Amino acid sequence: MTSTPHSPSALEIPVTDLKGVTEVVREKLAKLGLVTVGDLLFHLPMRYQDRTQIYALGNLRAGQEVLVEGEVEQTDVIMRNRRMMVCKISDGSGQLILRFFHFNASQQRGLARGAWVRCFGEVRQAGNHLEMAHPEYRIVQNNDPAPISDALTPVYPSTEGLQQRTLRRLIELALEQAQNLPELLPPALVQRYQFPPLADCLQVLHNPPPTLATRTLLEGKHPLQQRLIFEELLAHQLGVQQARHKVKQVLAPQMLAPNTYFKQLLTLLPFKPTGAQQRVMGEIEQDLRATSPMNRLVQGDVGSGKTLVAVAAALQAIANGYQVALMAPTELLAEQHYQNFSQWFSPLGLEVEFISGSQTPRQRKRKVENLLLGISQIAIGTHALFQRTVEFLQLGLIIIDEQHRFGVHQRFELREKGKQGEHYPHQLVMTATPIPRTLAMTAYGDLDYSVIDELPPGRQPITTVAISNERREEIIDRIALACSQGRQVYWVCTLIEESEALQCEAAEKTEQMLKERLPHIAIGLIHGKLHGSEKEQIMAAFKANELQLLVATTVIEVGVDVPNASLMIIENAERLGLSQLHQLRGRVGRGSVASSCVLLYQAPLGKTSRKRLDALRQSQDGFKIADIDLEIRGPGEVLGTKQTGEARLRIANLVRDQRWLAEVQQAARLIVAKHPELTPLLIRRWLQQADGDSAAQFFHS
Ligand code: ADP
Ligand code: MG
Repeated sequence: MTSTPHSPSALEIPVTDLKGVTEVVREKLAKLGLVTVGDLLFHLPMRYQDRTQIYALGNLRAGQEVLVEGEVEQTDVIMRNRRMMVCKISDGSGQLILRFFHFNASQQRGLARGAWVRCFGEVRQAGNHLEMAHPEYRIVQNNDPAPISDALTPVYPSTEGLQQRTLRRLIELALEQAQNLPELLPPALVQRYQFPPLADCLQVLHNPPPTLATRTLLEGKHPLQQRLIFEELLAHQLGVQQARHKVKQVLAPQMLAPNTYFKQLLTLLPFKPTGAQQRVMGEIEQDLRATSPMNRLVQGDVGSGKTLVAVAAALQAIANGYQVALMAPTELLAEQHYQNFSQWFSPLGLEVEFISGSQTPRQRKRKVENLLLGISQIAIGTHALFQRTVEFLQLGLIIIDEQHRFGVHQRFELREKGKQGEHYPHQLVMTATPIPRTLAMTAYGDLDYSVIDELPPGRQPITTVAISNERREEIIDRIALACSQGRQVYWVCTLIEESEALQCEAAEKTEQMLKERLPHIAIGLIHGKLHGSEKEQIMAAFKANELQLLVATTVIEVGVDVPNASLMIIENAERLGLSQLHQLRGRVGRGSVASSCVLLYQAPLGKTSRKRLDALRQSQDGFKIADIDLEIRGPGEVLGTKQTGEARLRIANLVRDQRWLAEVQQAARLIVAKHPELTPLLIRRWLQQADGDSAAQFFHS
């Protein structure tokens, strides 16, 4: 490297100045957001491999990534769908199969009977034996025992065609400049938490010395990691706050006129809003009266009555002469909302349009016109609402139901689409996914947050039982009994296979079986493959109690509301996520009769599965269930951000590092008040990512 040590500019040197960075390598690095030497320093290992000890073959468990050694007993090339080489090794304590799909003749010769091999790879269960597919391996000579590594090996996030070796080498070079990194944490914070110097942290994380406690490092608990975790969470928090601040800078329609429509609706409703509903409605009302756009997340457990809150918001917009778009994640749910809203809005003299992806342009023509001319006040639909062909005269409010299906970028996109002149529409997002508050502030920090923490009165608790598949018979009797008492039943077919076609097929078979077993009961079937209008008909028939038993796939997961249904059977419950089960179960227990939910599982149950089903049996509190779910599955899945890339973090983990969240929020306030110049630097350091929909891009836009 050419520049002198201790010059900050050494960090700005492009990676191309490093030895061996060809154009191809440069491109790959750029894909990872690595442009300068400084960027390389913050490309942290996503995990470590432990190659410091050799495991006995007899002690292996599936899922472990380990170093093993053994003598080749037999190597064969076989045909099973495709050609493969299968090699059996043993070390006296047990055996292991090595499986190779790409191999050459010299490899085959090298793995001859009697040779000693050392391999590194992931152990997996295959039938009744353990194996490693494509391990890294080498032949060990008897008289020359190859040394094993005495430190953990870092594994970096990479991209196709960029080898770990290359990354390790370049990062090694970059580490020479670590001393030049500016300290971005104010001295008060460094002192308060006794953080070690930044350069030391990076050195150790990229290059763990053998003396280091491997355990704490693997678990992300080492003090040197804590400093970086803190800094990353802080940068993230600042980014989110900045986004929120930017959003508040723009204009939105001020909705000051009183909500006369809602007052009128209340006189027609058979119930009164709960205290929690009233509180949240008040918060929304204030938001809508402001000159900057509302961006509010309303969280309320299944059945807490989020729809009414949405209705109140919509009516305020309409009373002020604006239109409303209500978007739901599935056509079924959108359709339900359409039914409900139509029913409530027609006595008020208001027009509702239903827009769905399965409508033909002809079917849609009139609806689109009505919206464009302002004849209709509200459009309800799926994301089809935001296609180019749908336009509004005066869109003032966007409501997104069951937000966990949408990502931050989509939310942002919608906002842009709804822009009219200088004004952005208000946004209200509703979710049943219970998110612990600190986590919500980090993951959805750009939104204000309200909770409906009270269920409407008179709800009966749902009794939940877990029953093995072998006891299906008892369930048939239960269904017959419930129906004879005038109740209705859901039977939910789930399959782990992602294929929708298979799900539907399974549901059809179940329907057949139930029709044979329960000939006196009116049974309907609903799944994703039915057309919109067919789904509508079936749902309407079930709602009207013309169907007593509804066999369904998980299309009914969210939002479906039939209070007379009081029994739900969920197949393959052990394979579903806890939050999803809780959502599904929320389809019953909506009326005044006691409901029950039967979780059918395939025996034997693993330990984790048992724990999950128990959690569900013992609790009906969405928050509690979410906490357990978080523990088991991690935040990406719980927040539904896996696909959308929200809250993508390099070293921090929102669950593991939860204890930092409150501290970080406090630190962010300190920075904003006393060291505002640090904000862009921290954001640049931690949130810069290259792949198109990067967090930094979002926070900067
Ligand atoms: P979710 O929060 O799951 O979307 P919904 O809005 O679908 O819940 O409401 C669930 C049921 O509770 C609906 O049948 C709705 O009419 C009813 N409901 C809503 N608010 C109240 C209330 N304050 N009192 C009684 N029932 C209510
Ligand atoms: Mg709902």
